[in-house]
Amino acid sequence: MATYVFGHTTPDLDSIVGAISLSYLRNQLGLQSIASRQGVLNLESQFVLEKFGFDAPILKTSYAGEEVYLVDFSDKAQAPVDIMEATIVGIADHHKLGDLTTSTPLEMWVRPIGCSNTVIKQMFDYYGVAIPQNIASIMVCAILSDTVIFKSPTCTKEDTKAVKELAKIAGIEEYKALGMELFNVKSNLTGATPRELILRDFKDFDMSGNTIGIGQLEVVDLTLFDTLKEELHATLSQMQEDREAIMVLLTDIILEGSQLLVCANDNTKIEKAFHTTLHNNEAWLKGVMSRKKQIVPFLEEAYK
Ligand code: MG
Ligand code: MG
Ligand code: MG
Repeated sequence: MATYVFGHTTPDLDSIVGAISLSYLRNQLGLQSIASRQGVLNLESQFVLEKFGFDAPILKTSYAGEEVYLVDFSDKAQAPVDIMEATIVGIADHHKLGDLTTSTPLEMWVRPIGCSNTVIKQMFDYYGVAIPQNIASIMVCAILSDTVIFKSPTCTKEDTKAVKELAKIAGIEEYKALGMELFNVKSNLTGATPRELILRDFKDFDMSGNTIGIGQLEVVDLTLFDTLKEELHATLSQMQEDREAIMVLLTDIILEGSQLLVCANDNTKIEKAFHTTLHNNEAWLKGVMSRKKQIVPFLEEAYK
């Protein structure tokens, strides 16, 4: 029986590339694996797969009775709805440990570093399997994207080392320029509705029984949002539903900070989390680039 390898709901580049790179490694090891995904490709993933000549992992949202290997998440909220009816054989991730449990032993490659594809690069090294040039190319892109071209506080020496080694295999000299290419693609807001923008990179978290939804858009110029903000606020309040709070981070990767737009039942919780004051449900969070490291832990503390 083949194992499905896939990343989180609303897949980002790390989830898509991780499904491809890890299923390749497992197949080389004689472990029959199929790369899949839980949702549509975002613009960045489309760009990268097309640039390096890959087909998208197959779209599959139901996994009852299947063996699965999870990449880039271990939270139920980011898993397929029938995940508890699947057998989780492994997890490769770089987030906080989520709330999924298993009834059988599994392998876990979880490290506090900048990208799941850095973890997967280390798996290739551990098993002594060579990485093909085209897979090395997309792994470089995934790491540059997740670490915001090494600017994110989640980025470690292991990530920069992995990029250097992978770029060598891929024959990519100007990897920082490639990174900027990715963020220019990500910065394209045209043709998307405010709802689509909020959902582009969106995750729900369970914080002490409260559902908190957090979207993030990483762009090269925050002024791109000047004419959109009003609509984004209106859309957040439409999308709040049963959530205790919903928010979107508008991250400027050049200024290295995020404008936070919030719709919450209790704004004081948000203000407490980030030691800030919300004006018109907004605050500038200087230096904040990482949802997993600079947003989620502080909200979890505030909602305890
Ligand atoms: Mg991810
Ligand atoms: Mg990731
Ligand atoms: Mg990210």
